[in-house]
Amino acid sequence: MPKADLRRLQDDGLARYVREELYPFSAHYRRVFDAAGVKPEDVRGVADLARLPFTTKQDLLAAQSDPATKRDFVLIPSPEKIRAHWPLGRKLPLLLGGAEARERVRRAYTPNFVTFTTGRSSDPVVFSYTPYDLQLLGEIGARMWDVHGITDPATRILNMFPFAPHLAFWQATFAGFETGQLMLGTGGGKVMGTAGNLRVAERVQPTVLIGTPGFVYHMLREGAERGAKLSSVNMVILGAEKVTQGLKEKMSEALAALGSPKVVISGTYGFTEARMAFSECPTPYDKTPGYHVYPDKGVFEVVDPESGRVLGEGETGELVYTPIDGHGTVVCRYRTGDVAVGGITWEPCPWCGRTVPRIGTELRRASDQRSMSLTKIKGTLVDLSTMASILSDLPEVEEWQVVLQKKNDDPHGLDELVVRISARPETDRAAFEKKLRENLMLGIEVSPSVVEFMTRDQVLEALGMETELKEKRFLDRRPKA
Ligand SMILES: [Zn+2]
Repeated sequence: MPKADLRRLQDDGLARYVREELYPFSAHYRRVFDAAGVKPEDVRGVADLARLPFTTKQDLLAAQSDPATKRDFVLIPSPEKIRAHWPLGRKLPLLLGGAEARERVRRAYTPNFVTFTTGRSSDPVVFSYTPYDLQLLGEIGARMWDVHGITDPATRILNMFPFAPHLAFWQATFAGFETGQLMLGTGGGKVMGTAGNLRVAERVQPTVLIGTPGFVYHMLREGAERGAKLSSVNMVILGAEKVTQGLKEKMSEALAALGSPKVVISGTYGFTEARMAFSECPTPYDKTPGYHVYPDKGVFEVVDPESGRVLGEGETGELVYTPIDGHGTVVCRYRTGDVAVGGITWEPCPWCGRTVPRIGTELRRASDQRSMSLTKIKGTLVDLSTMASILSDLPEVEEWQVVLQKKNDDPHGLDELVVRISARPETDRAAFEKKLRENLMLGIEVSPSVVEFMTRDQVLEALGMETELKEKRFLDRRPKA
C-alpha cells in the first residue's frame, strides 16, 4: 500500500480502537482520558495521541501490585458498555444473538494465557492474552516469517529460545503453528544442554536456527570445535538481545566450519508490552534494513526522551508504542525506554520493497525502565547494552562477563568493574587489553578496574550457559541502594 493509504488505515484503526475498546473497557485508560479531558471521539488519528500522557512500566507495576487495580489494564467488556460504545452494526448481532453471542464475547475477551517481562531490577509485569490475542500472535508470527523470507515448504526450524512465559519463545512457536512449518523447540541450554541441542540439530538438520545471540553463538562454536556436521542451515534468526556486526561475523565463521557457508543472520525486536515482535528482512551481514512493523496492528511514535515531544520521521528518539488491535492487557503510549538511532522511516525498504514503517536497528537504552541496563559505575551512568555490544563485537572475545562489585566487599567502598574474558588462544593479551580499555573508554567512558583472563569453561560456568534461562552477562554484586 502507498504510505498515505497506510497512514489513513492506521488513523482509522486507532480511532476505532480507542472508541470501541480502550476507552469503554480499560478502567485505567478511562481514568486517564477523563483526567486529560480527552473524549474518545477526540482521537481521530495518530497526531491526537500527543494529547494523552505516556504510560510507563511503573504505572503497570503500581496497578498490578494492588489487588483493587490489578486488572485495570485488562479490557473487560460489559453489556452496558457495549450498548453505550459500540456502533449498531457491531452490537446488534451480539445483543440479538443470545447465549452463543455471549460465549463469543467471553472467548474474545477472557484471558487464557500470560507472558511476563524479564526485568532483573523490578518485579515482573504480567501481560495477559485472550484466545483472540493468541490468534493474533499466530498471524504476527506468519508475517515475521514472510518478512524473513521463510517460504520454502521444506523448512525445518530449530527453536532454541528458553521454555519460559516470555514473548520470544511463544512468538516463534506460534509462527510455526500458524505457517504449518516443521519446528522443534529444544528449550535452549538449560533444558537440553549444549550437547543435547547439538545432537538434535545434527539429527534434524534444520534450515533455520532461532534463539538468543549468546546461546546460538555458543552452540555453533562448540559444534564447530567438536566436528559436528550441520550443513543445512541457511538462516539464523536472533531475538531478545541486540546483535552486533562482530557477533554476526563470528557466528558465520562457526557456521561455515559446520558446513553451512551461506547463511543470512537476521535480528528481531519485540517486547512483552507489545505482545508481538518485528523482523529484519534478509540482507548481507553488513547491511541493516531495520525492523519492519505492522501499521495496522499498532502505532510507534518517536519522542524526545527528555521533553516527551513527538519527533519527525528519521529523527533519533525513544520508541513509544500503542496497539490498535488486541484484547487482554493493553497499553497506550507505552514508553519502551529504547532509543532508536535514526528513528523510524516510512520509505519503501530498499531490500524487500515493502512500504511499512521501519525502526532503525541500532537501539540504545533511554532509561532503566525495563532492566538494569543503565547503571552507575564509579559515578558514571553507563548503558550496559552498549557495553555488551562492545564486548561481543571484538573478534578476540570468545565469551565475556561483567561483574560489578564493591572494592574489598566494603559496602561504602569504591565500585569495581571487573571484565572477565575468555580470549581466542592466539590473542596477544596485553595488546588486546589495551584495545578493550580504549573501546570501552570511547563507548561508555569507563575503563575496567580489572580485566580478568579466564578459560572459556570458567566463563561459561560463571555465565550459567547451561543452568540459567538466560546467561548472566552482568553480575551486580553491589549491595542494593
Ligand atoms: Zn525489507
